[in-house]
Amino acid sequence: MSHLVEELRERKTLDDQGLKALLESDDQSLEEDLFRNAREVAVAQFGREIWLRALIEWSNVCRNDCYYCGIRRSNQTLPRYSLTPNEILSSCDQAWKLGLRTFVLQGGENPAAAEALAPTVAEMRASWPEAAITLSLGELPFETYALLRRSGANRYLLRHETASPAHYSRLHPASMQLEHRLACLQELQRLGYRTGMGMMVGSPFQTTGDLIADIRLIEQVQPGMIGLGPFIPHPDTPLGSYPAGSATLTLRLYAILRLMLPQAWIPSTTALSTLHPDGRKAGILAGANVVMPNFTPASHRGDYALYAGKSAPAVEAEENLKLLIQEIESIGYHV
Ligand code: SF4
Repeated sequence: MSHLVEELRERKTLDDQGLKALLESDDQSLEEDLFRNAREVAVAQFGREIWLRALIEWSNVCRNDCYYCGIRRSNQTLPRYSLTPNEILSSCDQAWKLGLRTFVLQGGENPAAAEALAPTVAEMRASWPEAAITLSLGELPFETYALLRRSGANRYLLRHETASPAHYSRLHPASMQLEHRLACLQELQRLGYRTGMGMMVGSPFQTTGDLIADIRLIEQVQPGMIGLGPFIPHPDTPLGSYPAGSATLTLRLYAILRLMLPQAWIPSTTALSTLHPDGRKAGILAGANVVMPNFTPASHRGDYALYAGKSAPAVEAEENLKLLIQEIESIGYHV
């Protein structure tokens, strides 16, 4: 085993120089060693079980204008939608009947609509008391986080996107501040949410130093979930002409973070599958342990266009879920 991988696995940390070598090396055997060790640690922690989460993209209305995001408010080409409470509950029902026990409600940042979602969250909690309810609704007033928590939500994913303030300011308008995003994460933890964070890999202007800063921040916060995927340009955004991030680099980050935080839930993300034909399986083989099939009603799924060519595994039929399970089983795992 490479001494860098061995040290990372044993100590659950590594100095910046070691991380840089793992991120930048073109040594294939080092990469294989990294993935194998991440796999072993994931299997030791979770067995060969992959956890399915039902993703419900509840609204593509967003007040923000992030320079990389297809649903940014300035994108006039996109039809906007918000699911009704009945549509949300019906997607949950469908997912529950297919055996999924975690619902993930994801949407653009829209504080008034997020507050209005509280009764629906309460209804989800009452209808499925054993389910985990994860929200991913951006930066909200702290009282809204508290209201949604009281209504029954117990997890919250808020990707920090980049831990470097200078890099953050090149991806977001001046109205958005990394400091505030991190304060939101702190508040979510204080309220008792199991929190998730993460970043885009290969976003424009990103350096290896920025990625090391991301790793350090995650190491410091110790989130329960880590969501990361490659940057994929969307043509109707200011950063639409920049090249996509690298699937390989994304996989190395899965593996590094698995070795640092053995207990974290790490989804093999849709963005990775969009870039890499076997992305979902490759993510699992690099240490990921979660897959999030899409339960957004088919009539709206195409409108949640965060980036171009999004390949969302649609599972509205039992048959499609079987195919997803078969794919997971083909590499020796089960759900
Ligand atoms: S990344 Fe999130 S906050 Fe930014 S524009 Fe897209 S949905 Fe809105």
